[in-house]
Amino acid sequence: MGQQTASLESNFIGGAWKHGSSSTETNIQNPATGELLARIPMAEESDVHSAVEAAAKAFPDWRRTPPQDRIQYLFRYRTLLLDRIDDIARAVTLENGKTLAEAKAEVQRGIENVEVACGIPTLMQGYNLEDIASGIDEIMIRQPLGVTAAITPFNFPAMIPLWFLPYAIATGNTFILKPSERVPLTAVLLIQLLQEAGLPPGVANLVVGGKPVVDALLHHPDVRAISFVGSTPVAKYIYGEGSMHGKRVQCQGGAKNYVVVMPDADLEMTAKIVSDSAFGCAGQRCLAVSVAVAVGDAKKKFTEAIVERASSIRTGNGLEQGVQMGPLITSQSKSRILKLVEQGLRQGGSVALDGRKGVNGGGTQDNFIAPTILTDIDASNPLTSTEIFGPVLAVNGANTLDDAIHALSQSAFGNSSAIFTSSGAAARKFRYEAPTGNIGVNIGVAAPMAYFPFSGWKDSFMGVLHGQGKDAIEFYTDKKVVIERWPKEWSRKF
Ligand code: NAD
Repeated sequence: MGQQTASLESNFIGGAWKHGSSSTETNIQNPATGELLARIPMAEESDVHSAVEAAAKAFPDWRRTPPQDRIQYLFRYRTLLLDRIDDIARAVTLENGKTLAEAKAEVQRGIENVEVACGIPTLMQGYNLEDIASGIDEIMIRQPLGVTAAITPFNFPAMIPLWFLPYAIATGNTFILKPSERVPLTAVLLIQLLQEAGLPPGVANLVVGGKPVVDALLHHPDVRAISFVGSTPVAKYIYGEGSMHGKRVQCQGGAKNYVVVMPDADLEMTAKIVSDSAFGCAGQRCLAVSVAVAVGDAKKKFTEAIVERASSIRTGNGLEQGVQMGPLITSQSKSRILKLVEQGLRQGGSVALDGRKGVNGGGTQDNFIAPTILTDIDASNPLTSTEIFGPVLAVNGANTLDDAIHALSQSAFGNSSAIFTSSGAAARKFRYEAPTGNIGVNIGVAAPMAYFPFSGWKDSFMGVLHGQGKDAIEFYTDKKVVIERWPKEWSRKF
């Protein structure tokens, strides 16, 4: 990001960097300071058509490249990502606002997906059975789909594109990344490093734009599969529209994550872990805890401990040493959250820690809300059901574990939930009954590692196969079943 205010060529199509076709430019700003980082002409439908054409042209050769040779690019890519991890983390902090430590951690989690995808020669294998009938054999082969695409959100500019890209190309597909137009600079860096790794032109492409670009991908007949991560309303739109156009679609949506705190938990340690989960990345994590339900007499002590912990969090510019929480992505996001909290409080509940005045991040930007803790938010209050996506935690009480599980089961979302306890029986009951796709037991952010699926249920996920791990290999390949008979009498005698 040397020439930060220059108009940036942010589309990578068929191995060449290009400007988007739009005649107007979008400003990319540092959400902590308001500093202008880049001006970007957005891509339009015609750019998507060029990208799909380039990806379709690259597909036959790439598909024929042996898996063992395909992964050599990913090995090189991993080395480059590790060598440049500080630069990538800085790009994430500059355009997203999270702290450098948080940014570096997300790049690391992204790199783990590249590492898993390097196992494709083993992971992509099919299976077979001799003599399904006398002299007849059956073989299942996995083949790549063709052109695939991923549409990603603003909150993990490095990690989420890497939930998809490595698996898509390792399995022999070609790929188009459509990152959030609010954080395109990290995506540019990720693709520049793939270029440096020598990936053949057209195998990985980048288009930066908004809804017109998404619609062009959804409607293009040559796009075979779409992965999406973002808010639930957009997930539903993309799932419906993509499926209707005959594509394989996986959509990860929004969340409302509950944590249950049992009276037998170590409440000081639990408060620390839940505080990190609720307020890390300014609460802009799809696995952030949003509602804590403290069972029995845990409520008073837990509330005191978490208020004390959260009030010590230092908010500010994520590039500065000692800052523990950055800004929200935009001032609109801040206004939306303040409005939700005000509306919710009108229906009851009280404020145990008020961070609504925020802080000044050292620039012109007013995007900060400091950690905010609300208590006794009634089950009918929208604050227990609406995704807030900011540093706001509700602490409620429940009489029993059953009541707590009932409360979280009411949510339309099912991304993750967690229990803090020292009882194996309570933990097992929770794991068994809680209706979310990711479960934490004494874990605040239940994020699956790259070799496990990033699960998610209900309104947090639309589709069958999840991102990461073996699900990703299934998603990016078609199964072909071959049934063979080679009668001796039909063959030439040797
Ligand atoms: P978003 O839905 O606004 O945007 C996501 C992507 O969709 C972006 O690339 C954007 O350009 C595109 N988009 C936005 N509006 C669109 C429209 N009307 N039509 C077509 N495309 C559109 O989400 P965001 O604000 O970038 O990210 C935050 C959301 O993502 C939160 O709801 C969060 O919970 C969710 N999220 C979910 C997961 C998960 O794993 N389930 C992970 C990260 C974030």
